Amino acid sequence: IPGQTWRVHDADRPHPPVVDPGPAMASAPAPKDAIVLFGGKPEDLAQWTSGGGDAKWRVVDGALEVNGSGDVQTREDFGDCQLHLEWASPAEVAGTSQGRGNSGVFFFGRYEVQILDSFDNVTYADGQAAALYGQFPPLVNACRGPGEWQSYDIVFAAPRFDGEGKLLAPARITVIHNGFVVQAQRELLGGTAHRSEPRYEAHGPTGPIRLQD
Ligand code: MG
Repeated sequence: IPGQTWRVHDADRPHPPVVDPGPAMASAPAPKDAIVLFGGKPEDLAQWTSGGGDAKWRVVDGALEVNGSGDVQTREDFGDCQLHLEWASPAEVAGTSQGRGNSGVFFFGRYEVQILDSFDNVTYADGQAAALYGQFPPLVNACRGPGEWQSYDIVFAAPRFDGEGKLLAPARITVIHNGFVVQAQRELLGGTAHRSEPRYEAHGPTGPIRLQD
């Protein structure tokens, strides 16, 4: 990884310490000025698309449930933003490592904050929950158990490019997981990649927020 001594998905990279966030709290209503991308109602799904058509994730008990129908992304585009997201991995534990509850939130459809069941589940450190996938592990592992609600509060500053597509400023990201700061003003090294070096490709000032199937 550029600027680091570790390789991408390095199995020898130390894992961050485990911390206990305590039980999940009931979620508070969204602030009045927030754009609510999913508030628990079936009709909220209309704000999301999948593969150029309608999103087909199921609405179950006020939550969006991943069901194998593909990634979903917002119809609206965003640039710099603050995102509050609540998620839970499957209560029934199946699989190991990256195979356990793997999802993710991608800003501009390309910069991932990893979602994974990292409760008693070892995987490479740069791929665990709240990692900037393939780049930076979280500062601590603040995961709650399978099936429990967890929160991400993410402050995302989009990268800047000049007219020729040259990078002027990298994306910057701060992530709070269940109340713990786990990424503090991290400068992303580029778009999320799997088993390869991240790099930037120029894009416009806004883009969709994508959720991984
Ligand atoms: Mg993922």
